Amino acid sequence: MHIAPIAAASASATARGGHVEIEAVTKSYGTGGKAVAALRPVSLAIEPGSFVTIVGRSGCGKSTLLRLIAGLARPDGGLIRIDGAPVEGPPDGVRYVFQDYGQSLLPWKSARANVAFGLRHAHGGRRAGAGLEAEYLRAVGLEAAADRYPWQMSGGMQQRLAIARALASDPELLLLDEPFSAVDALSRAQLQDMLLGIWRELGVTIVLVTHDIEEAIYLADRVIVLAPGGAGVQADVRIGLPRPRRQVETRESAEYLAHRRELLRLVLE
Ligand code: ADP
Ligand code: MG
Repeated sequence: MHIAPIAAASASATARGGHVEIEAVTKSYGTGGKAVAALRPVSLAIEPGSFVTIVGRSGCGKSTLLRLIAGLARPDGGLIRIDGAPVEGPPDGVRYVFQDYGQSLLPWKSARANVAFGLRHAHGGRRAGAGLEAEYLRAVGLEAAADRYPWQMSGGMQQRLAIARALASDPELLLLDEPFSAVDALSRAQLQDMLLGIWRELGVTIVLVTHDIEEAIYLADRVIVLAPGGAGVQADVRIGLPRPRRQVETRESAEYLAHRRELLRLVLE
């Protein structure tokens, strides 16, 4: 897979927004005796412009938390604010890529048209001009598949298209739910670096859910571990690894390996 970097935005890449405040948020599904607590009180603040990853066992409430931030579900208790405004529905400038990535695509539109849709609904509008569709498709290695429809693509390709479309809409806050789960390992490493490049260029705040601890460390300024059974935040680990990160050097560094040990213990024990 060939991946090309995205050119710098015309505006400066200082952080624009995406300050997320989560205060004592709870959420359960179902009612009465059958209710499942998906999140017991979670409090968390995410700084604008930061790259935060969320890890934890299956069912610990990662997707629920992301959906609440995206305004796609309402908490039972507590409050979420983005840049000071309470979240009461999908906020402007926030884009969410579903874990079930097909939900993030328009099946009746080609790959190019899916990206064009993202561009038309761009939040910042800082990047305009012809040829941007091709640029975003190139960034995720889909240039040759521009005329294909989602149903003519593999799961990994659909996932890459969903990411390209979300990026094209120039969000201030990008929420990604296991965005590389269907992508092969080598493409995955390239996409991680592409995402880090764009994050730096565009000054976007990124919250990314993954079940891969190593990916979580490699990408993030901060790794949030959610406790099993929706019990809330188990750990909040600052990752001070130097940037730009490098697939080989970063993953061999003593600091990276120390974080890996610490987080694997937390999650496995
Ligand atoms: P994760 O993404 O960490 O795997 P989820 O947020 O998807 O966890 O789910 C947390 C808990 O809430 C799980 O027990 C799950 O079965 C339950 N859950 C999630 N979504 C729903 C739903 N729409 N209806 C009922 N239960 C749900
Ligand atoms: Mg999930």
